[in-house]
Amino acid sequence: IVHSEFVLFYQPQVDLRTGLVFAVEALIRWQHPTLGLLSPLKFVSMAEETGLIVPLGDWVLHEACRQNKAWQDTGLPPVNVCVNVSARQFREKNLIARVVHALAQSGMEAKYLELEITESLIMQDVDQAVAMMEELQGLGVQISIDDFGTGYSSLNALKAFPVARLKIDKSFIDNLASSESDKAVAGAVISLGQKLNLRVIAEGVETAEQVAFLRANNCDEIQGYYFSKPVSSDAIEALLKR
Ligand code: C2E
Ligand code: MG
Ligand code: MG
Repeated sequence: IVHSEFVLFYQPQVDLRTGLVFAVEALIRWQHPTLGLLSPLKFVSMAEETGLIVPLGDWVLHEACRQNKAWQDTGLPPVNVCVNVSARQFREKNLIARVVHALAQSGMEAKYLELEITESLIMQDVDQAVAMMEELQGLGVQISIDDFGTGYSSLNALKAFPVARLKIDKSFIDNLASSESDKAVAGAVISLGQKLNLRVIAEGVETAEQVAFLRANNCDEIQGYYFSKPVSSDAIEALLKR
């Protein structure tokens, strides 16, 4: 952080009905002086173990809000920016104050910020998580459940979560074209989400066959290489202009 070696890439999220990009997910990379551009899979879990994820996550939050406001200020159509929040960050008592600070410093409206948390994080302490989510929602921030289907969600708890959408994990999307059981699970998650009045986005969508299935099953949104990989902020700006 001191050497400014972290960068955010952004991956567009697309509305399947309108074809428009309505949000981008901020994904961290470490521009390491000798090792090159490092994937978060190489360092996020260690940052989590050591607690360094707290200052790192704070940097991500500030940078994502600053960048999104800068895009809005250049006259681009406003999009939401999605920021991943780890378990350790979520348990910090002052997460709310940090979010408030990032919004105030950037001048970005709260409604353009969406926090992604995982179901396993929520299930560690459901009551505490729901209280935190309600406070965030009170600020006007949106919440989504990342990697949905891979944790142990209690379906009974799910209906009480103040969340805006579910992100169906890539592992259910990968074999959509060939696997009848993945079709069944993905289709069921889409209708479950919609019956709970949540939007549903499919993650890791790579092929036209997957898109066709998702469209036919009334999925709201997609994110994945089919539309775009995570790209630099300059590339997103060019894409939003188009
Ligand atoms: P995630 O939040 O589930 O993000 C989606 C991951 O799937 C990203 O990997 C993205 O590049 C990848 N992906 C998206 N579409 C496709 C596709 O069509 N095919 C394939 N093969 N992959 C696809 P990435 O950027 O390597 O990030 C991995 C994980 O690291 C993220 O998973 C998230 O859990 C974590 N992470 C990334 N940035 C942050 C951050 O700022 N803070 C925290 N706490 N975690 C982060
Ligand atoms: Mg995510
Ligand atoms: Mg995910």
